[in-house]
Amino acid sequence: MKRNILLTLAMATIAVTAMAQRPKLQTYTHEKPYTVETIKPTTGKKVKNVILMIGDGMSLMHIQAAWTCNRGHLWLENSMATGLSETPATNRLVTDSGSGGTSLATGHKTVYHAVGVDPLGKHLTTLCDLAKKAGKDAGIAVTCRLWDATPCDFISHNIDRDNEEELVGLFPDCGIDYVFGGGARKFVNRKDGRDIFKELEGKGYKVLRSFDDLQNCNTSRVWCVPFEGDTPEPDDRGDMLAKASLKGMDLMNKNKNGFFLMVEGSQLDDYGHWNQLDMLMKETLDFDQTIGAVMKWAEQDGETLVVVTADHETGGMTVHGGELAEGKVTCHFSSTDHTGTMVPVYAYGPGSELFTGFYSNTDVFWKIKYLMGM
Ligand SMILES: [Zn+2]
Repeated sequence: MKRNILLTLAMATIAVTAMAQRPKLQTYTHEKPYTVETIKPTTGKKVKNVILMIGDGMSLMHIQAAWTCNRGHLWLENSMATGLSETPATNRLVTDSGSGGTSLATGHKTVYHAVGVDPLGKHLTTLCDLAKKAGKDAGIAVTCRLWDATPCDFISHNIDRDNEEELVGLFPDCGIDYVFGGGARKFVNRKDGRDIFKELEGKGYKVLRSFDDLQNCNTSRVWCVPFEGDTPEPDDRGDMLAKASLKGMDLMNKNKNGFFLMVEGSQLDDYGHWNQLDMLMKETLDFDQTIGAVMKWAEQDGETLVVVTADHETGGMTVHGGELAEGKVTCHFSSTDHTGTMVPVYAYGPGSELFTGFYSNTDVFWKIKYLMGM
């Protein structure tokens, strides 16, 4: 009898432990799917412009989930080539946006948390620098604060991404043409007393503090920083990232030598860290719609290469189920941090065939550099 009680207790313990270990699943249904059009492949022409689009923390699972939410359609499907890139930092298997983004921006592996520098802190040449040297325009458009790691990988330098005021302090000398993003509060009221907006104006830039003003702007020498921190959430900002990207492309396209633009769907990473499936899907779908707007522009232009990739995965997200016809997806997060899966690379436009295969994240830089003749 006593043995039976012990056995029952043991069985109950096993059952409780199994329940505790069962993954907590989240379900999201996307109510309003959007239409995706077919974009004609463009081939045979030289690469004049490159748009590098980074989904911060975006893995194949994020894309699979977003594809399900939009009833089995994404603009991303218009890619002409797909590849995979490995992402480790020099001192960590699982990287961050500082090190991973630096590899995309400069073609060099570096240490965790480093921004635009090698492991010893030496400033590295970025795709923006190279574009300027080649007589092209260079720009960035992001949905985060501009002192976040990914934008800074392209326009600033520091061994530690947490040195935010120092990163912003280098902006006036970065030489870039077009900037859209948030983060105004570290441009002014700084510990060193500098007013970075005034310094930018002193360098001949137009500084805009409202998004509406950007729509009427006709110079590509512009810093548009309408928000104190990140841009608003996807529901509140609408198609702002697509509009800001297209505006930058139209303005910089006036340069007969072409341009380089980095566009980031920045908040995927935040919602991955916070394990917020609904917001994560909204940001990913906004990023896909931005990809569509950029690809349509590239289709018309014919000499523009669009490359879409990520710096790492965030959240350890996996798709556990859903209903394609309803746009419903059930997912699990295994982490509140970055994970070490390789990330996809998609390319559209002339030169896209170079992006097939499995390669280092640094190769994204070298392929773009080669194709732009920089
Ligand atoms: Zn992150």
